[in-house]
Amino acid sequence: MPDVALLALIMVAMLAGYLLGRAEKKKKKEHFPGHHLSKEYFAGLNYLLNEQTDEAIETFIKVLDVNNDTVDTYLALGSLFCRKGEVDKSIRVHQDLLARPSLTPLQSIRVRLELAKDYMTAGLFDRAEAMLVDLSRQNHEYRLDALQQLLKIYEREREWHQAVEVAESLHKLSGEHYASRLAHLYCEIAEEKLRHNDRSGARKFIRTAFYRDKNCVRASLILGRIEMEEGRDREATKVLQKVSTQDNRYVPLTLDMLETVCHRSHQQRVLGSYLARCLNEKPGTAVILAMTAQFMNSRGDVFAMEFLTSQLRRQPTLRGLNALINIQLNHPTEPSLTSIKLLKEVTDQMLVSKPVYQCLSCGFSGKEMHWHCPGCHEWGTLAPVQGVEGE
Ligand SMILES: [Zn+2]
Repeated sequence: MPDVALLALIMVAMLAGYLLGRAEKKKKKEHFPGHHLSKEYFAGLNYLLNEQTDEAIETFIKVLDVNNDTVDTYLALGSLFCRKGEVDKSIRVHQDLLARPSLTPLQSIRVRLELAKDYMTAGLFDRAEAMLVDLSRQNHEYRLDALQQLLKIYEREREWHQAVEVAESLHKLSGEHYASRLAHLYCEIAEEKLRHNDRSGARKFIRTAFYRDKNCVRASLILGRIEMEEGRDREATKVLQKVSTQDNRYVPLTLDMLETVCHRSHQQRVLGSYLARCLNEKPGTAVILAMTAQFMNSRGDVFAMEFLTSQLRRQPTLRGLNALINIQLNHPTEPSLTSIKLLKEVTDQMLVSKPVYQCLSCGFSGKEMHWHCPGCHEWGTLAPVQGVEGE
């Protein structure tokens, strides 16, 4: 039980802090009416050893002086409870600390910050927010921490405008570190605008997203969709193709839209040379399948099948195999038909159960693309799954 050991250590530190404080007071005044405290201290220690932590905390809080030496110990005690998931105890420790008139202004700020974190852990976001807003308005050495916590709350509550305001402050305070996160937040607002059919509002926020992070793939995808919906096919093609230079892992996300706009505006050749370039830079299943579909239209099934087979030999993937079987089913030769059908059934089943996107940071995976990972709450960490069963 390492936690109990740690708790005991903290209690010893509290006693040391208390004794130090007493020694100092003794120097100043010769008498100090404190000898009954040690009895209660040992009573507390006894509770602790019997793992009656509630009673132990109560006793220690009652008897121990808060001075410069013990504030740190109290804070350590609070964070220990918080880590153990006993956030109610952590809240009590911090609230008790706050009630002490002997805290310096900076100590009081630090304790309030810890209390706000307790409220966040307990899911009391309104209380945490009120406290953090207050703390982030003042100038002190914990302001950055307060702003970071506040940003987490606004992101979790999907309050994007407030999140942007806080992230811009953080960007000013700590530089480029917040650029890509800000771009994601502006994209969230742009998507919100689109949901309310406000395309020009969305465009405005996409521009701001690019201003913060010119390599924001997500902003390119949103802008590509807007251009496509407004029938500006040339602009849509241009912005969607930009993704391959921004981060070519996300090229698969552009292909459906690119196929639509290139097909309806007769830019098949533009799409063809773009796909060839992508294949050259980073061969992936989505690009190979898009090229195969193009070849089926322009050069016929046999050529497309040969192309796909040669690509699959180089880089076998489940989805590629599945597509090959599909084409072959249109050109059956009697003896192989049954086995191909069986193979097709199996690969169909496998594809249904496979996640398509995975978080590089925490491993979260699913069939839906998230820009804000539901697992670890990082931004832009999900990408199409790689390997035999992925791209
Ligand atoms: Zn994650």
